[in-house]
Amino acid sequence: MIRNLLRERAPADLPKINGANGGTTTMSSFHGIFQNEGRSFSNWGLHRSTKPAVYVEPISYADVQAVVADSERFPTPVSPVGSLASVTSTIVNDGGTMLCTRKLDDVIGLERDGIGRQVVRVQAGCRLKKLNMWLQAHGVEVAFQAEIGEATVGSVAVGDTKESSLDGPGYFSAHVTALTYVNEKGEICTLSDHADGATFHEFKCSFGLAGIVVECQVEVRPATLCKSDVSLAAFPSPEELAAGILRAHEECDAVLAIVFLHQLASFFDQRHKAGPGATTPAASQPACEDFRLAKRLAIQHGFEGVEVPQPKGLIYSRADFVNEYWRPTADERRLDFQYYEHDLSQFTRVIVETYNFTMAFQKETGYAPNGWATYFVNRLDKAKKPFGLYSSGPGVSFSFDPFCSNPAEPRWHRFSQAYNKLAIKTLGGNASPIQTQWLEKGEVKIPKKLARPRFTTAYYQQFVS
Ligand SMILES: Cc1cc2nc3c(=O)[nH]c(=O)nc-3n(C[C@H](O)[C@H](O)[C@H](O)COP(=O)(O)OP(=O)(O)OC[C@H]3O[C@@H](n4cnc5c(N)ncnc54)[C@H](O)[C@@H]3O)c2cc1C
Repeated sequence: MIRNLLRERAPADLPKINGANGGTTTMSSFHGIFQNEGRSFSNWGLHRSTKPAVYVEPISYADVQAVVADSERFPTPVSPVGSLASVTSTIVNDGGTMLCTRKLDDVIGLERDGIGRQVVRVQAGCRLKKLNMWLQAHGVEVAFQAEIGEATVGSVAVGDTKESSLDGPGYFSAHVTALTYVNEKGEICTLSDHADGATFHEFKCSFGLAGIVVECQVEVRPATLCKSDVSLAAFPSPEELAAGILRAHEECDAVLAIVFLHQLASFFDQRHKAGPGATTPAASQPACEDFRLAKRLAIQHGFEGVEVPQPKGLIYSRADFVNEYWRPTADERRLDFQYYEHDLSQFTRVIVETYNFTMAFQKETGYAPNGWATYFVNRLDKAKKPFGLYSSGPGVSFSFDPFCSNPAEPRWHRFSQAYNKLAIKTLGGNASPIQTQWLEKGEVKIPKKLARPRFTTAYYQQFVS
């Protein structure tokens, strides 16, 4: 379908290259925004910046092809970005070509795929909030509905995500069933789980190093409602805190815990399946909107100086809780975080050793992270997630992610660097090149076969082995 569209739109006399899937694609000149005047770009938290030689905003798939195919005008590496919401140096591409997908953001429509599943076909630059609202209006949903509405489909299709999902794996790429990308030669290629198996699943672990995603098919299901019981509890010891979180996890269908570790307290959002439905019932208002706005502000500000209500029995559409966050200024409180994945069997050990580490750090420096986000993520077979996070086969992972409200705080940097060693080396956790900062060589491994030189930045090169 895409190749047909390209053929229809492109003038016949333009140069042609072979498509990887057998067809011929027609290349056009580049029509989107092109900047090569030395501008620098920062991430959402303003603590990661980069000065690419060229910045481009493609407005068509042919534009993406034109960029990748022309290494003189668009210097290597070409690295794609969406909303620049990532916390690590994943966006850093000094002297290369930064390709932003924000103008490729159509939700193309619902369809049945080759094996009869209902999927939404969506362009890579579409933000998750926009996608969720579109799906909600059509009575369907993707099982993954994280709080972050700014993240783009292309980034999360091949990158790392987490959320405590109701009935399904808690990372976005698990729900992607097919994708279309531009490879290192500038060819349009498609891959799907049913036609390409292992190659497809490996591609979804590639962070954009194997190709630039321009379009995805994502599995959807009839929309469901969620019931949340929100509470706050304090515990006398780290062991009892761990037991309390595990109990909260067992009592419901999915739980998000925000743990105030140094205070041995936790906020719980215990989620229960509440039957079919696409919109938040009127009877849940205004409590639902009050809770959503307070939670959004808390996340925006890194949980500093904000109070979150504790409603019970709140029934709502989770699509409403996928939120947009304004781009903060450098003097504003704003979320920054680190991500670590562990197997559920390690829960008590991780909480207790992390508590001891945090208290020792606080004693020495007077500093402790504002809190720790705990998500529980259902994993799939290793064949479906061969590399990186969630790649240890069926089971449940949890994250224990410290966060703060000032990404520029030097003690936060020191804390995170030291904690990386404990979490990854001692506790055996997995880290993410998109969501874990200050990683060193060897702390994340990306197989060489996934990394094409045309797309591999210096930041990613250190993880390729
Ligand atoms: C306030 C806030 C809240 C957050 N909450 C959550 C949360 O609840 N759950 C969660 O999982 N994450 C959360 N995040 C992290 C965020 O979801 C991820 O970092 C996400 O990947 C950001 O998407 P993006 O479009 O901004 O990617 P960018 O930061 O723009 O790009 C990140 C990387 O994605 C890859 N990439 C981007 N586009 C493409 C493409 N088209 N093709 C191939 N590769 C591509 C590249 O490697 C790129 O460097 C949060 C972040 C913030 C700032």
